[in-house]
Amino acid sequence: MNAPTGSAVDAAFVRRWLDIATEAVEREADHLTQLDSPIGDADHGGNMRRGFRAARTSIAQEPPDTPGGALVAVGRQLISTVGGASGPLYGTLLRRAGKALGEEASVTAAQLRDALRAGIDGVAQLGGAVPGDKTMLDALLPALEAFGGALDAGGALADALDAAAQASDEGAKATIPMRARKGRASYLGERSIGHQDPGATSSALLIAALAQTAREGRP
Ligand code: ADP
Ligand code: MG
Repeated sequence: MNAPTGSAVDAAFVRRWLDIATEAVEREADHLTQLDSPIGDADHGGNMRRGFRAARTSIAQEPPDTPGGALVAVGRQLISTVGGASGPLYGTLLRRAGKALGEEASVTAAQLRDALRAGIDGVAQLGGAVPGDKTMLDALLPALEAFGGALDAGGALADALDAAAQASDEGAKATIPMRARKGRASYLGERSIGHQDPGATSSALLIAALAQTAREGRP
């Protein structure tokens, strides 16, 4: 269970996040696919929905007892069920983050930040993208920076994650004028300009779900 401060991140926290994230993905799947139409192959919503449904089923069947184990399990499901580029990338994000959390039953906000950083580093290594390439990193990196900044300023987990969610939403919107340099959208060159990146948009959804998880876990 959560500590009285509501800031402990345990396996139940990750499961609540997975529920909230899956609902958000279900709700936004059509929108994600619409975004993936002009600059991709119109499958991002379906990919995400398939992956998160599979992850939720798997976690319900074999409930992990650590937050790290839960993230690794979700990441593994995404890698094996999401067909597109986003599956291995999100899978790497969550597996790396989960491994960084180790075997502890409950971790702090600072450990969660470090784990998120490790996961994002994994995405950058695997995909080779840098900020401004119009990818999920353009939502994930601002989220990490805002999260870390708010924690350093003494903010509680829920407030720091609210700041992260806002930054990732702004980051996703900021991909509109960018020219894609990675993934399918990069095949369009200049014609990728003027469209919001689907992966950055789904990343912002996942970070918003994290903020909601922390807010609802508050005493
Ligand atoms: P696919 O492009 O194979 O159809 P999806 O549609 O599920 O896969 O996901 C597309 C999203 O994946 C893009 O919007 C982008 O955010 C992300 N993406 C693609 N390639 C990369 C990369 N090399 N690095 C980071 N993110 C990437
Ligand atoms: Mg696609």
